Amino acid sequence: MTSLLEVSGVSKTFDGFRAINDLSIQISEPELRAIIGPNGAGKTTFMDIVTGKTRPDEGRVLWGEKNESLLGLSEAEIANRGIGRKFQKPTVFEDQTVRQNLAMALKNPRGPFAVLFHRKTPQGAQRIEEIAAEIGLTDQLTRTSGELSHGQKQWLEIGMLLAQDPRLLLVDEPAAGMTAEEREKTTDILRRAAQTRAVVVVEHDMEFVRRLDCKVTVLHEGHVLAEGPLDHVTSDPTVIDVYLGR
Ligand code: ADP
Repeated sequence: MTSLLEVSGVSKTFDGFRAINDLSIQISEPELRAIIGPNGAGKTTFMDIVTGKTRPDEGRVLWGEKNESLLGLSEAEIANRGIGRKFQKPTVFEDQTVRQNLAMALKNPRGPFAVLFHRKTPQGAQRIEEIAAEIGLTDQLTRTSGELSHGQKQWLEIGMLLAQDPRLLLVDEPAAGMTAEEREKTTDILRRAAQTRAVVVVEHDMEFVRRLDCKVTVLHEGHVLAEGPLDHVTSDPTVIDVYLGR
């Protein structure tokens, strides 16, 4: 496990309100990490800062083995470094099949060998099969995506992001609106994806986070309140006070 992303001393103020306050988070590669925290804790702003959507007022965001600063880079340049982001709402091409959606995602992969993965090549076809297996949609490849369940659409979108071969995948509340069975499958998919890359999951659902069985970072008022295994952070009195409300 080596350090992939190092956010340190980051702050961001919106109209006088400190949404992120001296935030430091380090993500390794590979790693599965859950970030939890009450509404307004700064989870979205954290992801916005890492992906270049929002510029922090102070602090450092360093990437990769060369400790490259991401702060001067555009969103596209950051995505090209290998940072993928999954928003809450699935955005797949509903009138296209699952295979076509994955093929489209493969069309614009990053890296110098991108052309190898073009969908028309055997490598591309094989990669689509691999991703479909990874997201549990092998038997749905020829289905029109609009016919998929909400959960399956979410998995397809995760697959489309995996097709871009990210080193870091940021996932916003993947379990929202899912059935219990779908939530369980989503855990498997994320855990599998995190075997070879960093996956950071922002989530409210404690049961879901428990099943992820990973290091948890609790955010509160734009700052890390506690970090460690779920049982450790949920027994921390400050976390109980502000987050669990018990
Ligand atoms: P979370 O995702 O944990 O719910 P956010 O990162 O969305 O938290 O928000 C943190 C705080 O920053 C909130 O109080 C929110 O209202 C504020 N905030 C976020 N983005 C903006 C913005 N563009 N302008 C003003 N306030 C913002």
